[in-house]
Amino acid sequence: MAIINENYLKLQGNYLFAEIARRVNKYKEENPDANIIRLGIGDVTRPLVPAIIKAMHEAVDEMGKAETFRGYGPEQGYSFLISKIIDNDYKARGISLDEDEVFVSDGAKSDTGNIQEIFGLDNLIAVTDPVYPVYVDSNVMAGRTGVIDSSGRFGKITYLPCTAENSFVPELPKNRVDMIYLCFPNNPTGMTLSKEQLKKWVDYARENKSIILYDSAYEAFIKEDNVPHSIYEIEGAKEVAIEFRSFSKTAGFTGTRCAYTVVPKEVVAYTKNGEEHQLNKLWNRRQTTKFNGVPYVIQRAAEAVYTEEGQKQIKETIDYYMTNASIIREGLKSIGLQVFGGVNAPYIWLKTPKGLSSWEFFDKLLNEVNIVGTPGVGFGPSGEGYFRLTAFGSRENTEEAVERIKTRLEI
Ligand SMILES: *Cc1c(COP(=O)(O)O)cnc(C)c1O
Repeated sequence: MAIINENYLKLQGNYLFAEIARRVNKYKEENPDANIIRLGIGDVTRPLVPAIIKAMHEAVDEMGKAETFRGYGPEQGYSFLISKIIDNDYKARGISLDEDEVFVSDGAKSDTGNIQEIFGLDNLIAVTDPVYPVYVDSNVMAGRTGVIDSSGRFGKITYLPCTAENSFVPELPKNRVDMIYLCFPNNPTGMTLSKEQLKKWVDYARENKSIILYDSAYEAFIKEDNVPHSIYEIEGAKEVAIEFRSFSKTAGFTGTRCAYTVVPKEVVAYTKNGEEHQLNKLWNRRQTTKFNGVPYVIQRAAEAVYTEEGQKQIKETIDYYMTNASIIREGLKSIGLQVFGGVNAPYIWLKTPKGLSSWEFFDKLLNEVNIVGTPGVGFGPSGEGYFRLTAFGSRENTEEAVERIKTRLEI
């Protein structure tokens, strides 16, 4: 008899997006002529920029000739891409990395989900609340948590509430934790940490021999100074932090798939007997065993992100989204809604008016102005009473949506 991994039974169904789809479909059936605008999507909509397309075409041609054909590449990624990542994303900010500290992959979702494999099952994990669900669910699957309670919290996980009351800055946990997931700029709140605020976490990790798993998928959207792009801008972080980056939001690679993870050789964790081990070695072993690398064509496409034209073109796309973000932000503010984020991230997080629940506000927005967003409670219990709108739509739809909210939403 084959036995299943019963930890999977502890997971919640994919309730959030299924329930959104159910409510939208029901509304559409009852109102077939309604022009519904979706500002809930977490996917980009602008096409890949010309510099990237050109590099991809050239790489495809190389694959068609015996002299330039490539089979298996290095599991960790080609040096041509890793060297550009280091020079542009790190050296330019005063951070030095060796090539064998950067691991190219098919996504930050896989990497943030897989990283827990190199850690023991007795580690206590901490996540911000609300949170990107991958961090929690991958640990549930591994058996690092208890069951979920009626408040939506899994046993053995330390939830760090991020709400308007603490300006979305998580407080250090009162109990000791071993693995800390941080994502800044944050999805879903769109909020950031300053260097001083992030330093507190680095200091905590160094004092407690904990590891910070730092997701900076939205780094390219940062506009303000004093917002760290990399956790390694903080002194001492190289000893305690693993950083995840992705070309998905930065350069529109959500369907193209390329990301990378930085595991400095200084980062160590311990055996139960207190023996030190480099996480870099463990992650390398994990990746070389279970992953065979990102396609050559895709790595050439990612390399083109770092050319002069590539940089200029992706910045135009990011500016396009961030103009949307500011249209949403300013529009909502002008009618007295309390809004957060949208300055250094493509997400706008709003406090629902009149104490409405996240789902009540979802229905109100759908019914009164035909706009679909994402209920904050779907990202964790502390998201209740909040709502997420994204800047990834078209300019036309974004402007139309904000106009409807300003003129027709009753608040
Ligand atoms: C979109 C997103 C990513 C990127 O995931 P990919 O697998 O690289 O597409 C990572 N983390 C967060 C929080 C995200 O929202």
